[in-house]
Amino acid sequence: MDTVTKEKRSWMMSRVGPKNTAPERILSRLLRKNKIRYRKHLKSLPGTPDFTLSELRTVIFVHGCFWHGHKNCKYYKLPDTNSVFWKQKVEANRLRDRTKSRVLKKAGWRVVTVWQCQLRKSEFLDKLFTKLTSE
Ligand SMILES: [Zn+2]
Repeated sequence: MDTVTKEKRSWMMSRVGPKNTAPERILSRLLRKNKIRYRKHLKSLPGTPDFTLSELRTVIFVHGCFWHGHKNCKYYKLPDTNSVFWKQKVEANRLRDRTKSRVLKKAGWRVVTVWQCQLRKSEFLDKLFTKLTSE
């Protein structure tokens, strides 16, 4: 039973790499569908946002619930083994996320964080696009 858990966990972690993860593909598709122009992983901006919507002066970060420690989310569950190690890793990511967001906001960008679990809900996505295009 332990073996299954380990395999499942490494599978899960292999799917949450920094670039072109499934959640980013979902969002790309939706942006295209809504005819919103975007650029991905723009290195000229602080923190290399996952999506930059220059015309809307908006950046979007797509966060994996595990790596970025989505509070009260069922996908953020620390492994039983090495939990201190993982907790520190996640906390470091959270701190980095807050710093990036602060710097970008100061530079006049609207910062939107989209959690992986939210991308599964179509009503969330509808709301997101209303928000993006309403200003
Ligand atoms: Zn989540």
